[in-house]
Amino acid sequence: MSRRGGSGFDPVAAFACLGNETRLSILEALYETTRSYDGPGRRAVPYSDLQTAVGIDDSGQFNYHLTRLRNHFVSKTDGGYVLDQTGKTVAQILLRSFGVEDPAFDATPVDDAPVDTDCPRCGESLAVSYADEHVVTRCQHCPGVVDAAALPDGTVSALVFPPAGVHDRSRSELVAAVHRRYEFHCVSMAQGLCPTCGGEVARELVSCSDHDTDGICEACGTTLPVTVSLCCRVCGHQRLAPVPFTRTDSPLVAAAFTDPDNGWERFAATLGWPVESVPVDDGGECRVRVEPPETDAVLWFDEQLRVWPEESSDGRGYSPDGRGTSAGRRENSPDGHSSSTDDPADGDDSVPGRPSPPPDGDSS
Ligand SMILES: [Zn+2]
Ligand SMILES: [Zn+2]
Ligand SMILES: [Zn+2]
Repeated sequence: MSRRGGSGFDPVAAFACLGNETRLSILEALYETTRSYDGPGRRAVPYSDLQTAVGIDDSGQFNYHLTRLRNHFVSKTDGGYVLDQTGKTVAQILLRSFGVEDPAFDATPVDDAPVDTDCPRCGESLAVSYADEHVVTRCQHCPGVVDAAALPDGTVSALVFPPAGVHDRSRSELVAAVHRRYEFHCVSMAQGLCPTCGGEVARELVSCSDHDTDGICEACGTTLPVTVSLCCRVCGHQRLAPVPFTRTDSPLVAAAFTDPDNGWERFAATLGWPVESVPVDDGGECRVRVEPPETDAVLWFDEQLRVWPEESSDGRGYSPDGRGTSAGRRENSPDGHSSSTDDPADGDDSVPGRPSPPPDGDSS
C-alpha cells in the first residue's frame, strides 16, 4: 500500500519530523499568527516575525528546524512562511487535545442548567463523567440503554469529545454540546459524507434477530432492536445511532418531535421511539418502521436512510410489502437525499460478522 500522497508526502518522515518541541512550537506560532484568516490566499509570516513568535534567539537552530518542516507542513512564499493544510491540522490537534489540561472528572450530576437531561428510560436525573476523551452519560437509578464491558452500569451514551470542548461548559451545557456534535456527525454521515475527512461513508442498518424488548436485550446489549452503523470508508470514523436520530434534518423527522431544541433532547427522544426492522424482499433488504409516539406519523427508513411517511394521500406512499416502485418512493420522499449519487453504496455496506453495536457508542 502506498502511503504517499500526490505531492510525495511521506508520513513516516513526516511523523518523525514532528517529534521535536521547537518544530511543534513553530507550527503553533504560525497557526496562532494566521488563524483569523482561513482562505486559500493564506497570510504569510515573515521569517523574523516567526522567529520572534516562537521565542528562539539562536537563528541557526531556528532555521534548521523551520527547514525540516518545509517538506511536509510549511511552505515558503514571497511574503514569508505559511502553514500547509496538514500543518494546520497538526496545530489544531495540538490545541484541541494537548493544549488544555486534562479535564477528567467522575460521575457528577447534570442539574446545573435548564437543559432537560433526565434519563430517557426512567426519568431520574443523570450523571456525566469524562475520561479518555469520552463523555459518558449514565443513570444511577436504572440500567440505562446500553450494556457493554467497557461502559459503566446505567450508560445512556458514550461519545468521543476533545478535552478543549469540556472546559468552560457546565455539565448540562456539555451534555447538550456533545450530543449536538454527535447529531451533526450522524446527519452528515447519513448522507454519505464523513465530517472528519470528507470521505464516503458506509451506512448499515444493524438489526437484532432475537431482540428482547424488556429492558436491555442480552443479545445486542441495547434497548433498540435496530440501529444504524455509519463508518467512513477512508478514515474509519464511526458513529452508531438510533435510526431516526441520523435524519433530524428531515422535515418529516423534525415534525415528529414535540419540543426538543437541543441535540441531547432529540437523541433522548429518538431512543424512546418504537422501532422495528421489516424485511421487504428475498434479497435480505430491510426497511425500518418508526412510530414517534406523540404524533400520528409513521415513518419508514431504507438502507440509504431515506425517509418516507407510511401512507400519502395519493396512495403512493411506502408500504411495508414493497409495492412502491423506486420512482414512486422518490416522488414521496420530499426530504430524502435520494439522488442517484446515493446508489453506488448499494450492496456494499454490510460488514460480515460485525457484532451488534450499542446505539450510542463511538469507537473512534
Ligand atoms: Zn434511568
Ligand atoms: Zn437485541
Ligand atoms: Zn473519514
